Amino acid sequence: MKTGSKSKVICPFCGAGCAFFIVTKGNSLNIEYISDHPVALGALCPKGNSSISIVKHPDRLKHPLVKKGNEWIELPWNDALNLAAEKLLDIKKRYGADSVGFLASARATNEEIYLFQKLARLFGSPHIDHCARLCHAPSLVALKDMLGSGAMTNPISDLANSDCIFVLGSNFAETHPVVSRWVWDAKDRGAVVIVADPRRTITTRIADLHLQLRSGSDPYLLYAMMKVIVDRGLCDYQFVRERTEGFDDLYRWLHSFDLKEAVEFTGLSEREIVAAACHYAEAYSAALIYCMGITQHRNGTENVRACANLALLCGKVGAPGSGIFPLRGQNNVQGACDMGALADYLPGYADASNHMELKKLSRVWEKSDLPLGPGYTVTEMTNASLNGKIKAMVILGENPVVSDPEASGVKKALEKLEFLLVIDLFMTETARYADILLPAACWAEKEGSYTNTERRVQWSEKALDPDGDAKPDLWIIGELGKRLKIWGYTPRPDEVLREINRVVPQYGGITPERLRLSKNGLIWPCQNESHPGTPILHQSGRFKFHTPQFAIEDKGKIGKNNIFKLITGRLVVHYNSGSMSRRLSELFPYEPIASVSINPEDAAALGLKNGDEVKLIGESGEGIFQIRLDVSVPPKTLFLPFHFPGVNDVVTVGLDTSSRTPGFKDAECRLEVV
Ligand code: SF4
Repeated sequence: MKTGSKSKVICPFCGAGCAFFIVTKGNSLNIEYISDHPVALGALCPKGNSSISIVKHPDRLKHPLVKKGNEWIELPWNDALNLAAEKLLDIKKRYGADSVGFLASARATNEEIYLFQKLARLFGSPHIDHCARLCHAPSLVALKDMLGSGAMTNPISDLANSDCIFVLGSNFAETHPVVSRWVWDAKDRGAVVIVADPRRTITTRIADLHLQLRSGSDPYLLYAMMKVIVDRGLCDYQFVRERTEGFDDLYRWLHSFDLKEAVEFTGLSEREIVAAACHYAEAYSAALIYCMGITQHRNGTENVRACANLALLCGKVGAPGSGIFPLRGQNNVQGACDMGALADYLPGYADASNHMELKKLSRVWEKSDLPLGPGYTVTEMTNASLNGKIKAMVILGENPVVSDPEASGVKKALEKLEFLLVIDLFMTETARYADILLPAACWAEKEGSYTNTERRVQWSEKALDPDGDAKPDLWIIGELGKRLKIWGYTPRPDEVLREINRVVPQYGGITPERLRLSKNGLIWPCQNESHPGTPILHQSGRFKFHTPQFAIEDKGKIGKNNIFKLITGRLVVHYNSGSMSRRLSELFPYEPIASVSINPEDAAALGLKNGDEVKLIGESGEGIFQIRLDVSVPPKTLFLPFHFPGVNDVVTVGLDTSSRTPGFKDAECRLEVV
């Protein structure tokens, strides 16, 4: 362990990518803020501030464990890895390599994720995916197709340069708290902030105009705004003419679009829609922020396409203060996508179902028969296990028992596997199903790079050694690969990043040497070593409009027979499946259980008061929850934070066909008074 050291690390929670120093002195660990960090500017949110408590948390796994009956037995690393490799090779021999599924972690470093997907593909399985499938896969599909890149277009700090900030389906003041400071900076300069959200949230309190639209009606709002913009001649015609194609088709479509229908469907007034449209279109610069309230729908990809159509129509792309800001959830979910931990994309977004792309990768990896994609996604792996096609899984730092829809099916799927290997910091709800559980070093105990939501790649230093016998994921993956006879040695982070420089074009110039020396990291695309990085995308090039094809299914059940719209989402003091935040005494007491928020009028009609218990019944599962009377939730709607086991038991949803992302936000449930 370094003593008396100061190491720059990246926050292990959200995709904002705040950095800070960990100062070690003897056994004590302290945070020192970095006052000029380009995102955090010397501040961290409650999660970031409590993050070092994870490092020495008593629940951390310290030794490899193997399950014998109902008992966990400690094993030396060599024995545990040999056993894991033996099991995987046996399953490969009996059922084929594609009977094994791999789930990567969006909290691991780029180098670890790259090596993990390489392990999966060299093992012979195309089934590699991660939790971006549950959130921003629609952004990738839509923005890549229309703009050429599926990522956020401008830096977070550039929000301060926007004259209008339009927010859809994002409660960033809770989910990505540091974003708020840049929005406030813009407001202080006179920017207009518009927030479309069915709930009244901390973010809507920042808004000059809160559009409290009906949940799921976002495309109606967006196209209604576009119709107003076109009808009033507020398009950026020069941008449309010089930088886009497909406008005529969209124009014709908008011509037959009925504004009255949009008013009816969104529940907004025409005045509100017109005001939003005019503010956005007439602003000199405008940012469009969105998050899972847009993507987690069966129309998720269509919703993102609508966002991009609006930005293109008004020329609000490719300039300071003007861009599209899909806020990524986990600290390295952008990197996990870039590294190709996706069922449909190889590293650098090469098409996994394209023979030529596989051939190119074969040459670098010196292996000729890489498996053809697309592989199974996160949720498809569950179904494939239930129907006997997937026999084993390797899960790196993911917790699908809590994070995936229809959680009861996920548990059955994991039970059905012949072999499950889990690598994690803690005994998570998913780790309990493992046959072998390997203890991972946490982010402060290893070095490597992370890519935040604004494409900023930053190097995180190792601050201390892990307690016990936990090892960095890179070492674990490398040693497993050796035993699977995939490679002969375990590489260091620098060596893997140099391979990434060769394989991922966007990272061509993001070398370990440059990253270590750079104060604020490098923003991809950065093709070569003399490239400075690209904070603002799309300053040149042509883009494609999309002709809408959305359909909103309204079963007309909401409000009848105690059927409620169920919205799941995040809380400021928690993070994703809660495997870290539910263990932090600084955060947990504020929200110790999954309370279901209900509008007081609905509660009164049911004779319910604060703290009463109700049963929520979904199509494939049910659960008992305490209610919280909450005027911020609209009538006939419930809000549940998804950081707790049991919440996703109630959520049964279909998939967005383009991205295969579950439509979490389309869920409905029946409420029974207990
Ligand atoms: Fe960490 Fe995100 Fe909070 Fe920054 S905003 S401190 S990255 S959780």
